[in-house]
Amino acid sequence: MITEGRLGARAVIVGAGIAGLAASAALAPFFETVELLDKDELPDAPCPRKGVPQELQVHILLKGGELALESLIPGTRAALLAAGATEVRLTEDVSIWERDAWQATRDLGYSQLMMSRSAFEHVLRRQVLQLANVVIRDRTPVERCPSAADLTVIATGRGDKLLSDVSAPETVLGIEVSYSSVRFAKPPSFRGERRFIACIPQPPDDRYGLVCPIENDEWLITLCSRFDDRVPDDLDGFRAYAAALPVPDIAERLREAVPLTPVRRYRIAQARWRHFERATGLPPRLLPIGDCISSFNPTFGQGMSVAAGHAVALRDVLANWSGSLDGVAAAYLPRAAEVSRQAWSLAAMVDLEYPRTVGERPPNFAKVVLGSEAMRQAAVLHPEVQLLRFEIGNLVKPDSAARSGPAARLVAREMTRTGGRARER
Ligand SMILES: Cc1cc2nc3c(=O)[nH]c(=O)nc-3n(C[C@H](O)[C@H](O)[C@H](O)COP(=O)(O)OP(=O)(O)OC[C@H]3O[C@@H](n4cnc5c(N)ncnc54)[C@H](O)[C@@H]3O)c2cc1C
Repeated sequence: MITEGRLGARAVIVGAGIAGLAASAALAPFFETVELLDKDELPDAPCPRKGVPQELQVHILLKGGELALESLIPGTRAALLAAGATEVRLTEDVSIWERDAWQATRDLGYSQLMMSRSAFEHVLRRQVLQLANVVIRDRTPVERCPSAADLTVIATGRGDKLLSDVSAPETVLGIEVSYSSVRFAKPPSFRGERRFIACIPQPPDDRYGLVCPIENDEWLITLCSRFDDRVPDDLDGFRAYAAALPVPDIAERLREAVPLTPVRRYRIAQARWRHFERATGLPPRLLPIGDCISSFNPTFGQGMSVAAGHAVALRDVLANWSGSLDGVAAAYLPRAAEVSRQAWSLAAMVDLEYPRTVGERPPNFAKVVLGSEAMRQAAVLHPEVQLLRFEIGNLVKPDSAARSGPAARLVAREMTRTGGRARER
């Protein structure tokens, strides 16, 4: 049985973004009080704030992230729906142009929730505030890692400075992605449509577009490029960029959509993974979480879900913990690293296909790409492979699930065919 305070009197979390909120739910069952500190004033409404400038861009919550949040705070899915999240059925409500073809439309038995990042965070904050022993203190910037708590979690995000003195090995990819996003009211002909559209052409074509159906029956539309920062900063340019994509579906929706915001741009130079499990100088009882550990290429929509996965790893470690909290980091960090690893390897595999991405390509990279392509081709033909591909990509299942079972055999068969074709070329 779980008893509040079983492991300590006070836990502190710095950063009340998605990772900090998820961490507070993970710690609440084990400490008398959990204090969540953030430098921003946290609004009592789903609106943007300074500390998370990325929140104006599309934020996809992967299915694995939704399940992790639900397990941390039961009722979160219902709260997201009650706050207006759009429920997108997979794949009936999804149109994904991937490389050179539309993905097959089939009932995979899953649905995904879409809303703006501000709204996700607002719902999660309200969920956390229902936990009796969690206190959120906003307008509280933290300059140095707090030392007076029984356990401290650092959730200060991609730009973290609190752990900058810790010497941890890093994996870095020079991805140079740029985004332009606009929130739109739908024209009458599209009202009620809950279609999620993605257009992801074949590398080295580095353009990319997304239509995300969010709360209030609105769209958040994002256009991306890599390397040369070509995404538009005005509405005419936005429409023209969408019209040049290989499929017309995004441009069609933009024709009569009414902009509700200006074009907002965001640029990310690097994806970065800090291997704290191999760090020296990380004080005991200090645990990083979320983007502080790994910040990905956002194209793959993984950050919030990985943060939730880290929090589940922490909760699971604490649930079986007895004795000094000094040892928690050594148990938690490798588990958190495994959550990051799956997301990182899925994203890096695609990132590294672009010749201009700076990063180390593994010796077997050509084979890895061939395997991934075989899985994509097999998913067109076989529903069970499409389902497995969705579950791995959405962090519902471990990537090891692709190595055994009937779906894996279908992929292997496709790999023999595509490998043969590649050798013939
Ligand atoms: C352009 C872009 C698009 C993205 N799209 C997606 C997507 O589609 N899906 C997805 O899952 N993820 C996406 N992400 C990633 C996602 O934003 C993060 O991974 C996720 O929010 C988890 O971040 P976090 O909580 O670790 O950090 P953040 O969300 O950055 O939160 C950090 C918090 O710490 C606070 N803080 C920082 N320093 C201090 C301090 N010294 N004292 C007190 N408070 C402090 C900040 O105010 C903030 O509240 C995207 C990111 C970018 C940049």
